[in-house]
Amino acid sequence: MEKRTLTGRIDPSYFLRLVSLLNESTDDYIYMWDIADDYFYISPRLMDKCDLPDSRIHGVLSVWDGLLHPKDADSFKESIRQLLDGETNLHNMDYRLRTKAGDYEWFNCRGKVMPGEDGAPEYLFGVLSLVNERYVDTLTGFFRMMRLKADFAARTVETGSLVIFGVDNFKDINEKYGWHWGNRLLSSAAAAISACLPEDAAAYRLDGDKFGLLLPVCSARQVRTLFERVSQRLLSAVSVKGRYLLCTMSAGCAQYPDDGEKYEEIYQYAESALHLAKRTGKNKLAFFRKEKYNDHVQLISMREALLRSVSNSFRGFTLTYQPQVSCADGSLKGAEALLRWESPVYGKRSPVEFIPLLEESGLIVPVGRWVIGQALEQCARWRESVPEFCMSVNLSYVQLEQDDVPDFLLKALKERGLPPNSVALEITESGQLRDYKYFNGLFSGLAGESVEIAIDDFGTGYSSLAYLKHLNVDLVKVDKCFVDRILSSEYDYRFLRNLIELAHSVALEVCLEGVESAEEVRAVLPLCPDVFQGYYFGRPCPAEEFSEKYLNASFAGAVAGSGAAGERAGTAGETARELSRLRAENRRLSKQLRLLLASGEEGEDG
Ligand code: C2E
Ligand code: CA
Ligand code: CA
Repeated sequence: MEKRTLTGRIDPSYFLRLVSLLNESTDDYIYMWDIADDYFYISPRLMDKCDLPDSRIHGVLSVWDGLLHPKDADSFKESIRQLLDGETNLHNMDYRLRTKAGDYEWFNCRGKVMPGEDGAPEYLFGVLSLVNERYVDTLTGFFRMMRLKADFAARTVETGSLVIFGVDNFKDINEKYGWHWGNRLLSSAAAAISACLPEDAAAYRLDGDKFGLLLPVCSARQVRTLFERVSQRLLSAVSVKGRYLLCTMSAGCAQYPDDGEKYEEIYQYAESALHLAKRTGKNKLAFFRKEKYNDHVQLISMREALLRSVSNSFRGFTLTYQPQVSCADGSLKGAEALLRWESPVYGKRSPVEFIPLLEESGLIVPVGRWVIGQALEQCARWRESVPEFCMSVNLSYVQLEQDDVPDFLLKALKERGLPPNSVALEITESGQLRDYKYFNGLFSGLAGESVEIAIDDFGTGYSSLAYLKHLNVDLVKVDKCFVDRILSSEYDYRFLRNLIELAHSVALEVCLEGVESAEEVRAVLPLCPDVFQGYYFGRPCPAEEFSEKYLNASFAGAVAGSGAAGERAGTAGETARELSRLRAENRRLSKQLRLLLASGEEGEDG
């Protein structure tokens, strides 16, 4: 039976007995705080875990102050103030207490105030429980994802930001240094975030290499400052064998309620912003923008539409053909096959838009094979009237990496009874081409078979000159941007001349792309390029139109009509053709020499 003290209060020893009894039947730590007398009792088992003077304590707040994580101290004090001031009679919070081992562990502390007869808080009864691994990530000490959702729902501030951090190239680091260093990196990243986290913010470990931050601020400047601080800290956070691991993070930020109000929405938007940051170079922060998001969602739907086309026997894909003309006499050298795609939903789209989507998704491999098949069929038909017709096909580097293009091409040629010199492969100049050894090795078979190899968009990449020296190619296609301003800029004109001379000096053929006018033709003819391609000679068009317009046509007029007629007629024309023939012979010999040297080097390597 409960006993009353002289002042009429219920005797605390009555509760004490009750609480100590209960403590024997649970793993949690039940406590009682006699607020009036400032006397606190908690399960003695907590003394095994934390440095407590006793299980019965006078002045519990100062003892707790010594145990609490500094970052949790203020919110703890605030919660107690609210209880003591009678603003609430419920206590429910998570905080970290220092353990005997010296680290901090998360506890959930819940309790309810029992008021005295005068209504003032008299007792606090409650339970302190370890927040288990289900909620806390042991590697970083951060709450897990499920807590983020709960905290978002329970937020008291109406406006704020969710920032999702992701470690850049985490997979590579894991692969190169092993998971042990991967884990160290993650805990260093968490420490960097922790150190920069504002008092009123919370951090969470999400899946994989991602961290979430709930910030009660919406100012882009504040979010940016936080991001920069974290990045700065991370730079010198992890070292392997005395060397710093160069590690960066990207982040995406979505803000509520402006971007959305539901958790799922905000999370998805912040994650989408993170992907944007990663796609556009990494080591940066991106804010969610509805328009960009919609664009991206459209790209995803377009990728799905492309997949449908591919699985539907390539429905919607067609090839157009643009004439390629020999500069020496204006004869038709061949055509470049250019891919087109028309979708029932998206209409006609430019290859500049859909080729990257095909590449990203790997669909370029089946589509690329389809292109080769279609283009060779057409080539075989056209060679019936133009026996030397050469079909140029574009290849993406992804195809070279993922598909056995040389093997497929040689088989495709054989099936159609076509000789190898009826096809040219155009490969866009890009960083990947720098792997000369791989590239040359890949094409050594084809080069031996006299399939022409061209570098596309020459001059737009990183190290065009180095390509000339190292790659076993036959032709360079000089990008349109070098032709564009030759009429108005003396510098551009001289630049083009040097480019052509350079290519010729190493016995490479030169095709000028994007030639649009008679004036341009007139200006470049003295520079003696080998092949023209551009709207002036013909736009890309369907096969039937190409047959009608170009197959049996001569472009001699287009070349002569450019005003160079006088120079190129009669003996000058003869000389040009002879020069061209000699160059072709020179190219053939140079190529043989290069192949011979290359096979010699390989022998030495082996
Ligand atoms: P590219 O290989 O550099 O193709 C030349 C582009 O320049 C074509 O654009 C062509 O229509 C355009 N063009 C040709 N002459 C002129 C001209 O005088 N003036 C102007 N303004 N433009 C001219 P298109 O057809 O839009 O193709 C764009 C790019 O898409 C191609 O650039 C190529 O990189 C890629 N592509 C097209 N078809 C294929 C394909 O089957 N496979 C792969 N991997 N890429 C392709
Ligand atoms: Ca091309
Ligand atoms: Ca090009």
